[in-house]
Amino acid sequence: MSLDTLPIPSIPTESASAMSTPFDAADFDASVMSTYGRFPIALERGEGCRLWDTEGREYLDFVAGIATCTLGHAHPALIEAVTQQIQKLHHVSNLYYIPEQGALAKWIIEHSCADRVFFCNSGAEANEGAIKLARKYAHTVLDIEKPVILTAHASFHGRTLATITATGQPKYQKNFDPLMPGFHYVPYNDIKAIENAVTDIDEGNQRVAAILMEPLQGEGGVRPGELEYFLRLRKICDDTGILLILDEVQVGMGRTGKYWGYENLGIEPDIFTSAKGLAGGIPIGAMMCKKFCDVFQPGDHASTFGGNPFASAAAIAVAQTLEQENILHNVQERGEQLRARLRAIATKYPHLFTEVRGWGLINGMELNADIELTSVDVVKAAMEQGLLLVPAGPKVIRFVPPLIVSAQEVDQAAQVLEQAIATLAL
Ligand SMILES: *Cc1c(COP(=O)(O)O)cnc(C)c1O
Repeated sequence: MSLDTLPIPSIPTESASAMSTPFDAADFDASVMSTYGRFPIALERGEGCRLWDTEGREYLDFVAGIATCTLGHAHPALIEAVTQQIQKLHHVSNLYYIPEQGALAKWIIEHSCADRVFFCNSGAEANEGAIKLARKYAHTVLDIEKPVILTAHASFHGRTLATITATGQPKYQKNFDPLMPGFHYVPYNDIKAIENAVTDIDEGNQRVAAILMEPLQGEGGVRPGELEYFLRLRKICDDTGILLILDEVQVGMGRTGKYWGYENLGIEPDIFTSAKGLAGGIPIGAMMCKKFCDVFQPGDHASTFGGNPFASAAAIAVAQTLEQENILHNVQERGEQLRARLRAIATKYPHLFTEVRGWGLINGMELNADIELTSVDVVKAAMEQGLLLVPAGPKVIRFVPPLIVSAQEVDQAAQVLEQAIATLAL
């Protein structure tokens, strides 16, 4: 089957080309700061799991705006919700009550272990909120003067100064020092390292106040957390009063086949954060906490845009659609199907691939460390064949399609990937 055998939805004539002149990458680069290494295509239109670039080429989208477009592109429920909301009221400020924000918070609380929610606009910002809450908790409840937060090697928590410090990868920190004090790094899935750090970091006024972890490391190579590790982490936190903070920015909101990543680990966090998929691609962030939610008092933390009517309405539409269309079930089934297909490819090319791993619809395929081929090489080859993928580090290819992906589209992605691998002539 080729991409051409699937029906292409007809293009409404008025939106056939929003651009009056052809897209010019050099012109773009002359005006936009060069913080990204961009792939050489410009996307113009989408529907479901398909995207079209400015040249009219069609792609199967297994990136979903990096695990963000939960309902794919141009989903009727999302269009309806944001259209209605913007016609009524899109922004007012948290100076006033925002009913849509309250409804979204209520949905999150009813579908998670959280007692209260704070809204912001991105993953990094949600993690900043969690770090601030943990520090205030340390000062006012645990009586720690210099609180330390433990995070993992190969983690990713965002690009603000506090969150690059929390991120246990030197490449994101280089040349941005002085970094934020109060962070210490340990290997992921290694309970002994946590126990040692908790014991060692205990001098006078300095102590471990919180542990910040991803339930599954996304950017760091799609590495799932181990059950036993997280059970022990929970126990250590219960015994000591240390807060367990989970960064659910990439895996939350159904991506793993459960609403929250921690549900795969048999534990509940004290604080967790969400962003990427929460409003299906409309910017939003959220920080959820349990029990000690009163640590933050009026004036302690704020966001101008956070939880505005527009973003909240979008997230409610995503939440309702996940529920009404039983999308979590699709995530579980399509995830198993995809891993089976990727494992078959890995078995066929054992010199190229070492492992396929993931939960639900966040999956990674790891390349052999001994060969020169990188994840970017594979991503580029797949793009040439009409399949969009995203690297998770230099050796892992990440598959994070919209959660509405069909069985046929999963099969097609596997086929196109195999064609792409064949073109690499290895
Ligand atoms: C993407 C990501 C972030 C950062 O989110 P932004 O919205 O880009 O600030 C933080 N943590 C994890 C786990 C992520 O995947």
